[in-house]
Amino acid sequence: MSGQQELLRSLPAVDRVLRERTLQNLEGRLPQEVLTVAAQQAVADLRRQILAGGIIDAEDKLQPAQVAVVAAKFCQPYLQPSLRKVINATGTLLHTNLGRAPLAPEALRAIQSVAEGYSTLEMDMETGQRGERYSHVERLLVQLTGAEAALVVNNNAGAVLLALTALGKGSEAIVSRGELVEIGGAFRIPEVMEAGGLKLREVGASNRTHLRDYQQAISAETRILLKVHTSNYRIVGFTSEVSAGELALLAREHDLIMMEDLGSGMLCDLTRYGLPYEPTVAETVKAGVDVVTFSGDKLLGGPQAGIIVGRKDLIKKIGRHPLARALRIDKLTLAALETTLRLYLQPDQAVEQLPLLQMFNTGPEQQQQRCQRLLERLQAEKLPVSLTLVEDFSRVGGGSMPLAELPDWGVTISLSRGSVDSLARRLRSFVPAVVPRVQNDSLLINLRAVAEAEEALLAQLLIAAIREEV
Ligand SMILES: *Cc1c(COP(=O)(O)O)cnc(C)c1O
Repeated sequence: MSGQQELLRSLPAVDRVLRERTLQNLEGRLPQEVLTVAAQQAVADLRRQILAGGIIDAEDKLQPAQVAVVAAKFCQPYLQPSLRKVINATGTLLHTNLGRAPLAPEALRAIQSVAEGYSTLEMDMETGQRGERYSHVERLLVQLTGAEAALVVNNNAGAVLLALTALGKGSEAIVSRGELVEIGGAFRIPEVMEAGGLKLREVGASNRTHLRDYQQAISAETRILLKVHTSNYRIVGFTSEVSAGELALLAREHDLIMMEDLGSGMLCDLTRYGLPYEPTVAETVKAGVDVVTFSGDKLLGGPQAGIIVGRKDLIKKIGRHPLARALRIDKLTLAALETTLRLYLQPDQAVEQLPLLQMFNTGPEQQQQRCQRLLERLQAEKLPVSLTLVEDFSRVGGGSMPLAELPDWGVTISLSRGSVDSLARRLRSFVPAVVPRVQNDSLLINLRAVAEAEEALLAQLLIAAIREEV
């Protein structure tokens, strides 16, 4: 008999694997069916490995107990939520892969209250008749931006697609070559134009576009002048772009629509936190832009949403387009967005309550103290790793302000044995998961995006992971 056949015969029977304690412990928590399939899968995996020549000796992993451990791993997805809380120790505050902006406590309460029962979503409480779902935020947005009217949809990519389609389908829109952006996840301005049935007319060069470039490109086909904020990259050096104000004037002269996709869209000036200057939504509206779009969950610090503000007649036209219904915002998001916007009526309140603005509002000294505290907690455990307090930078992220760095501190964890990648993987497997930054063969823990209330738990999870891995 060949070695391979012998190995195949030595594979444990599924029943035998199911009798192992690891799987017996899961009985009652999972249906028998799930355990059986997991055991079958674990055995089948080994069979495949043997046939592929990946296993040539009767190794430990053919033992029933080891096979049961593998089977138990297959059961993990049923035992813990896949979409779960993360402690974000990356120092990237609007991490798109980690869900962008955390919400204000008041916004969470609003979600709960609307989610657990019925709500005024689309009923006018004055008349008892059908109302407008957008009415809950329109007045706030008008007040905060100075625009005539507002509309909200699922996200900003949707807002841009909707506005372009509703206002420009079948005609031409002019965009600078320096602004043909791609946002993560295959959202590219030229492709959005195509999807919306518009013809893209590119003008200028990557680094420089002048007013005359737009002027010369205007034809009978032109309906829209589009300006796109280069949120996630910067063109530096010999550059020039045409301001929103100048374009708005040009649009008026030729009876065109001036539209600007601001990307992040800020309702208040963030330069006081050491962030670069960017025009606020109100300033953009004031510059004469007819339609402005921006995200709810970037620098605004609210839920995922796409906000469109601008001229009343245009907003009305956008709201009536069938795509508006397809991209409509849900009631939970609307509840969180309304609350977030209401906080902005008093900017001090917004700073006090919005986690994102709080993160901007803490200075490096405070972060240093927090890192020092974490360092001492870890040092007290006498872990077999080397720990250092280091100067660091945190970033805005979420494709916003790509060059902005906030001076900060961090704690690095370096290993003399074991692997940094498997330590990071272990941290990600936890509930809540911990996501640190992997940098120069060490883990770096940055606390700016970690809530104070999460600090003790973070320390515990770090200690547990190091003990298990190193
Ligand atoms: C982020 C961004 C978008 C997409 O916004 P989402 O809310 O993520 O859909 C579109 N345009 C610009 C310029 C952006 O920065």
